[in-house]
Amino acid sequence: MKNKKIKELIQHHQLAMEKESTACYPSEACGFIIASETESEFIPCENLQDKMHAYDPETFPRDSKTAYYISPKKFMDSMKQGEKTGKKISVIFHSHPDHEAYFSEEDQKAAQLDGEPVYPDIVHHVISIKQGVPDTSKTFCWNNSLKEFNEMS
Ligand SMILES: [Zn+2]
Repeated sequence: MKNKKIKELIQHHQLAMEKESTACYPSEACGFIIASETESEFIPCENLQDKMHAYDPETFPRDSKTAYYISPKKFMDSMKQGEKTGKKISVIFHSHPDHEAYFSEEDQKAAQLDGEPVYPDIVHHVISIKQGVPDTSKTFCWNNSLKEFNEMS
């Protein structure tokens, strides 16, 4: 999907993502946008990070205030749900409660496997939310020469 199209897609769902960020505050919110050429849908996801943290604090040292975890089943279900209507997961969204809208080292790690993007065509949208109020947001896409996710131009 072209950058212009991605930007329009995000713009279209920005308010829904901001509302989700407020609803989940002070925890991180997360979700997907699935889209075809003509249709798109925002799918909010439960942030399971607190459950993962409680279950295995060594592997998951952070709680939901500074991390998010989407169940792999939810990811697969969203892919399948989209396939029926020709939509693909195009954007993964999460919020940063009381932090700026940057793509953190943790975010880079979560989106990569052995230095390669797990899903090179999926962009990441981060919304900063301060004291429950949505602030700035940024979109990050894979840069194949730098081998990291960078802010989309
Ligand atoms: Zn993050």
